[in-house]
Amino acid sequence: METTVTSPTGGVSLSQSYWGHRPGPRGFKTVIIDAGHGGHDSGAVGRRVREKDVALDTARRLQRKLQGDFKVVMVRDSDRFIDLNKRVSIANRYKSAVLVSIHYNHSGRSSRGPETYYWRVDSYGLAKRLQREMARVSPSERGSRGQVRRRLRLTRNTKIPSVLVEIGYLSNYSDARLSRSSSYRDKMAEAMARAIRRQALVGDAGLGPLPKPINAPISRPMDPPGS
Ligand SMILES: [Zn+2]
Repeated sequence: METTVTSPTGGVSLSQSYWGHRPGPRGFKTVIIDAGHGGHDSGAVGRRVREKDVALDTARRLQRKLQGDFKVVMVRDSDRFIDLNKRVSIANRYKSAVLVSIHYNHSGRSSRGPETYYWRVDSYGLAKRLQREMARVSPSERGSRGQVRRRLRLTRNTKIPSVLVEIGYLSNYSDARLSRSSSYRDKMAEAMARAIRRQALVGDAGLGPLPKPINAPISRPMDPPGS
């Protein structure tokens, strides 16, 4: 649905979509890269590795790989804290854009591998391509939930297709060791770049049926985790 109605997050332009009930984008020009956490917010902490550091490093690698093909916007390019709502409002400044938020996961000791979160219909294809490419690089996906539809501020409240990736589990010994490896982070960034380029080239082609539209309210800080 493309409308010009005023949403709780402000006016929506014709090239953006409040609900995201539309096919995934093709031919987008801008990629917004959001390195999770930062500053006083370390995110997950594993053995000799902090999420905020490896997320930023992976984001920079992805930035370098996409430059030239896209206009690349870094939500943060240093070790500083940015509120989630601020991240959403930065993303909403851009048209013909997609957002990719980069995180590393934390749970039990045994889970491994990448996970990819999306909410909007127009984000399904990019999420699927990202998860598929990252899974090819990851040596194990034991306990990973794979591609997950989840209403988060960064997957629901933006007006552009938005995906949040968890590259691996810092709570798992082997994934934490891989996350500390710059060559592994580079391979993951390359996998993500492939997925983004493919989505820009062909849109949702070849991915099968899209998920059903869901009209859910915007995500707020007081919502239960995972909603
Ligand atoms: Zn995180």
